[in-house]
This record gives sequence, C-alpha cells and structure tokens, in this order.
Amino acid sequence: VSTWTNVPQGPPDAILGVTEAFKKNTNVKKMNLGVGAYRDDAGKPYVLSSVKKAEHKLINSNMDKEYAGIMGLPDFTAAAGRLAYGDNSPAITENKLAITQSISGTGALRIGAAFLSKFYPHSKNILVPNPTWGNHIPIMEHSGLTLEKYSYFDKQTNGLNIDGMLEDFHKAPKNTILLLHACAHNPTGVDPTPAQWDEISKVVKERDHFVFFDMAYQGFASGDCNRDAYALRKFVDEGHSVVLAQSFAKNMGLYGERVGSFSVVCADQEERARVESQLKIIIRPMYSNPPIHGARLVSTVLNTPELKEEWLGEVKVMADRIITMRNKLRGHLENDFGSKKNWNHITNQIGMFCYSGMTPEQVDKIKEDWHIYLTRDGRISMAGISSDNVKYLAEAIHDVTK
Ligand code: PMP
Repeated sequence: VSTWTNVPQGPPDAILGVTEAFKKNTNVKKMNLGVGAYRDDAGKPYVLSSVKKAEHKLINSNMDKEYAGIMGLPDFTAAAGRLAYGDNSPAITENKLAITQSISGTGALRIGAAFLSKFYPHSKNILVPNPTWGNHIPIMEHSGLTLEKYSYFDKQTNGLNIDGMLEDFHKAPKNTILLLHACAHNPTGVDPTPAQWDEISKVVKERDHFVFFDMAYQGFASGDCNRDAYALRKFVDEGHSVVLAQSFAKNMGLYGERVGSFSVVCADQEERARVESQLKIIIRPMYSNPPIHGARLVSTVLNTPELKEEWLGEVKVMADRIITMRNKLRGHLENDFGSKKNWNHITNQIGMFCYSGMTPEQVDKIKEDWHIYLTRDGRISMAGISSDNVKYLAEAIHDVTK
C-alpha cells in the first residue's frame, strides 16, 4: 500500500471554491463576486500606475538579489509604520515601534499570534468578531492561541451590534486579547463609527484588554488612509499597548507580491530591542527572511513624494468606484425593480465587501438561475461589480429575495 493511504480528502477552501465553480460556467453573463481582489470598471485586475512607475525605477536601478535581513527591508518597514500610525505618533517619533516585514497580512497575523502565544503574560485566548475573516481561526489556532467570538454583526439591521460587542468586552476576563478589524471589516463591511470606537476604547481600557489590530484595507474603506487609521491611532493615543498586522495586498494591488508588516508598540526603545530580538527568533525557522521585490515597490512608492501622492489618489479612485457601485446597486434594486426590502445596508457598509443578507438558499438560487457566484454567507465582493453588470445583479438579487 502507498504511504499516504491514510490521508483523507480535505474540504475545498470556501472562497477559492467559488472561483473554481465560476470558471467552469460558460454563460456570458456570469459574475464572480467571491474573490476579494479589486477589479476596474471593465472587470479586469488593476495594476496601480504608481506601482508600475516604482517598478520601472527599480528595474533601472539594477539592484542585486541578496537576502534581506530577518525583519525585511528597513526602508520599507519604517515607511509602513509611518503610514499606519501617522508621522507624528509617539510610536514613531520616540522610536519605540518594533516592526518586521511579513508575508503580507496573513504572515503578519501568523507572526503576531506566535509572539502572543509565546510572550503574552495573561490568558492565551483571543476573541475575534462573529463573523470574521475565515482564515483568522486557523491562523490563531496554528500558533497555539485558543479562540472565542464576540458579538459583532446584527442580522436584524445588517449593521453593527455595538451593545452586544461592548457587553462581551465588558464581561470578558481582564487582560483578554481582542482582535479588531481596523477598518473595512471582512466579511461584513460593517465598521464602528468614530464615536463607537471611542466607546470601545473606553471598555478596553476599563478591562485592561489587549488589542490585536488587523488592518488589511487601509484606504480602501473611506478612500483616505488617515481616516481609515482612526481606530488604530486613537487606541495608541489613549495609551493602549497594541499590536498590528498590516497588508499592502489591497491598497497597493500587490496581492501576489505578499507585502505586509507586523508591529508592536513598545514602552521604550530598550523594550523595542528586546521585542525585535524575539520576533527574529520566531521568524527565522519559519522562512528565514522575507521576499524583497514587493517590499521594494512599497518602499519606493511611500518614500518618493510624487509616487506617494499619486498612490493616495489611486487608493481613492478604487474606494470611490466601490462606493459608486454600492449606490448604483441599491438604486437599481429600489427604483428600477421596485424591491420593497430595506437595502440601506448596501450603502451603509464600507470597503471591499457587502454582507447582503441573502440566505444560503438564495445564494444557491442566484447561482443556478443567474450564474452569479458568491459565498453562501451572502457576502458580495463589491469589486466584482462594474457599470456593465450592476443592473443585472440588482435584477437577480431582487428575483431571489422577493
Ligand atoms: N485580514 C483580513 C481581514 C483580510 O480580509 C485579509 C485578506 N483577505 C487578510 C487579513 C490578509 O490578506 P493577505 O495575506 O493577502 O495580505
């Protein structure tokens, strides 16, 4: 018998499975609303102009391909830290941010979870929102943390269950680790308002909780990288000690380049040095050191004033296109097809995703009858919608929900 006779067939990935089914369909009207990657209004993957210019600059500068250090490229991590925390953050100006390059946001979460698992001095339990990005669960468990959920989404309103969230934080044991999506919550598209963040910060303070921010969409929610960093910066200003997973997959369109960072706001420089020494010890046996090309691209964009300005404009263009699609989708549902359901949440929600409220049965039906593919939780990737197909989608949603 073969050595691997005992290996059972695993289930397909929920999101990648949607794309596989989509590819097999030959209908011309088919739509893929599963994948979380930006598409332009022609439905095509989009390489940012600022990134292309940075790439030309890099090619012309004829750089070598030597290894980076364990924590990656210092010019990249310094710029990434400033973008997230803000140039004037004490974390930056007092040089007390321990920050390492990571294999995009996923790798940042993985390093962070391993660091907490090894060094967090209280319970190794992390609370994540219900629902959350599916991969959070195995990432945390893989690193040795246990996991529970806190209330987040309100099915009645398709909005935030702020009371449930605050209550769960209130009753969690002191010093609990909380995972918070910094902006553009995946999969719901529902974010706290600034005033709600202030309330959350207060409870977290009262209970001495510890926050792990996941910021995979800075700029993608509002179109403004500073506005989208509100929660992170607020928490740092209020004196919380936080850690952060940051990704450049979405906001620079660098999905496959795998560029991100993990950072720890430390009390002082001496602590920063100790934390960084341990991050290196965690990373070294995982992958030795990170890939360089994507980090060079991000570093070139962020450290070249003209390219940075162009990039900030491109982030806004992407966010605005998504907001336009939200308005059109809701408008068609209410005005062209006369849906009597409440669709306010389509425009209230923010970022890449819309938690439509469609049931699993309705998702099955929209696939069968209309060739439209999404995950069974009813999550629509807004970036998969364009001017050409938004009306068709509205008609289909109306048909399966009426
Ligand atoms: N966190 C969240 C909430 C996400 O949605 C994603 C991307 N789907 C990630 C982290 C990490 O993505 P990546 O590893 O591609 O940066």
